[in-house]
Amino acid sequence: MKFRRFTVLLAAVMVASLMLTTAQAAKKVGIAMPTKSSQRWIDDGNNMVKSLEDLGYETDLQYAEDVIENQLSQIENMILKGVDLLVIASIDGTTLSNVLQQAADMKIPVIAYDRLIKQSPNVDLYATFDNFQVGVLQASYIEKALGLKEGKGPFNIELFGGSPDDNNAYFFYNGAMSILQPYIDGGKLVIRSGQTGMDKVSTLRWDGAVAQARMDNLLSAFYSTERVDAVLSPYDGLSIGILSSLKGVGYGTADLAMPVVTGQDAEIPSIKSIIAGEQTQTVFKDTRELAQIAAKMADALLKGEQPPINDTKTYDNGFKVVPSYLLVPKNVDKSNWEAILVDSGYYTKDQIVQ
Ligand code: BGC
Repeated sequence: MKFRRFTVLLAAVMVASLMLTTAQAAKKVGIAMPTKSSQRWIDDGNNMVKSLEDLGYETDLQYAEDVIENQLSQIENMILKGVDLLVIASIDGTTLSNVLQQAADMKIPVIAYDRLIKQSPNVDLYATFDNFQVGVLQASYIEKALGLKEGKGPFNIELFGGSPDDNNAYFFYNGAMSILQPYIDGGKLVIRSGQTGMDKVSTLRWDGAVAQARMDNLLSAFYSTERVDAVLSPYDGLSIGILSSLKGVGYGTADLAMPVVTGQDAEIPSIKSIIAGEQTQTVFKDTRELAQIAAKMADALLKGEQPPINDTKTYDNGFKVVPSYLLVPKNVDKSNWEAILVDSGYYTKDQIVQ
């Protein structure tokens, strides 16, 4: 009798602990990031892992070094390994249709991270920054620095765009042109090369060396007697290449001041360059905030709750308007880098000033 009662008790304990283990088995989120060649994506990956772990999830973080095929096979593997949700910052936003169909067949929800995934109905949500506003910030900086509103000019400007396979690049460019175009039309901004439009000014894979080579060509073809007063650059990695090219022909000296050069991502080499008086401006996008929003979206999707969304109009991916959350980008220059980047704990001061 005693023995039977013990066996029943033991069985009950085993069932209960099995139920507990099942209930507690952490769900896993696959995170596909584009490349480690830029600090921002390294921060994004780390912040995503942290935000998801804080919410009790396991993660599988993969970087594809800007090779589309790597990203495709990484996502396929995540699906095969049975992740419960995918967070994807795509390399080429149009190449994921097949792999996302596989995810949909397995009922795995997908969150587009920072970059919109296009040509697929199988994207649930999009977490990003106000990408049009990024371009507006860059161009408004040029407008102010040159005194265009006060009627100064004409000034010479050259335009650079981001990667043509990244939807964001068009938003950055269009945002910037919404400010610059009236001055171009009015003759206060002159593009000596005549190169405008994303088909002429884009930079495949956001490659700084490609931007540097294009700037070399522009300077030698159009600026042997003229001076360039501003360069619209959409990303710090391109700005650094453009600045090398400018320095190579003598800009940044007492005789030839640096043009206004914009940027994006507040990467450490660019903040150092801003302090040194070379790059003029960058746009800070706090990847901690982005990761938190994406993690909250993941959590809500996995629990069947209402995710955070503040935009349902802007991001049409060719199949549907993807419900989005847009965060606010911030302007950074010599006057406020410390307040924005150091006081907020994003960087420590000695990462920037040694
Ligand atoms: C991101 C930018 C980044 C660029 C290059 C874009 O999709 O939104 O923050 O500068 O990719 O990595």
